[in-house]
Amino acid sequence: MEPLISARNIKKYFKVKEGILKAVDGISFDIYPGETFGLVGESGCGKSTTGRTITRLIEPTEGEMYFEGENIFEISESELRKRRRDFQFIFQDPYASLDPRMTIEEIVAEPLEIYGVYKDADQRREEVIELLNLVGLSEEHGSRFPHEFSGGQRQRVGVARALALRPKFIVCDEPISALDVSIQAQVINILIDLQDKMNLTYLFIAHDLSMVKYISDRVGVMYLGNMMEVAKSEELYSNPLHPYTIALLSAIPIADPKVQKEKKRIILKGEVPSPIDPPDRCPFADRCPRAEDMCRQSKPEFKEVTQGHFVACHLVK
Ligand code: SF4
Repeated sequence: MEPLISARNIKKYFKVKEGILKAVDGISFDIYPGETFGLVGESGCGKSTTGRTITRLIEPTEGEMYFEGENIFEISESELRKRRRDFQFIFQDPYASLDPRMTIEEIVAEPLEIYGVYKDADQRREEVIELLNLVGLSEEHGSRFPHEFSGGQRQRVGVARALALRPKFIVCDEPISALDVSIQAQVINILIDLQDKMNLTYLFIAHDLSMVKYISDRVGVMYLGNMMEVAKSEELYSNPLHPYTIALLSAIPIADPKVQKEKKRIILKGEVPSPIDPPDRCPFADRCPRAEDMCRQSKPEFKEVTQGHFVACHLVK
């Protein structure tokens, strides 16, 4: 199967007072049609910047980004505008991303108006009601304002709006992090249900591995702007190879108290280093429990070690 998304050597650097901040430093991955690709890492690792860069919400520094075979980093602004219908965003804070002065119906209808999808107001309204129904809201919710809704309901509105143009690819940027634990599962289930119904492909960004476990087909682990490991979900959770992934997984609590008691948590020492002008070596070298001299001398290549399992570590052959 051909990938829907092929990101190659994506770089996003920012010039800051102290030097060059390498937020994303040459990462590559594919996402296949109908798949959910989870992207995980501590805050500041570059995962949200990756989502914004590959969709050209911010301009890349370098790299190639193929969407259905077309390099969208090379297309003009007007071509990009047409393409934008195909990729949409669901953001972390639904309240901040919804205009408080607009009704829910206006919010969901806005992308349809911008792209002139329905000239007829009644047809547009019918479509908005259908979108609200798809996310478990009703026609009656359409006349209300965002402040009248709970966090979970607001995120449903965010999802309905993202679906309005019937996109193929959605970047879900920490869509459940701001919600109560009890609501998180509901939003995840809606996203899974819609994926089946509408053949959607997701990039699902989260800061910890437990959150992406149930929704992702494959997972990528980022650290300091670099991709450390990519594998199928079951493979990554049962056979993590990169020392950073192993440490992240060791921090996830397990429901079985006996297993939890025997489990050894790896506490990472030290701070995440600065992404400004990073030295050419393994980005994880300062905190890695297995670091050797060579880790401080050169940056490990991101390579496929078994089929579909990619790792960037000198010690993983
Ligand atoms: Fe650790 Fe070295 Fe592997 Fe980096 S290359 S993750 S420092 S063992």
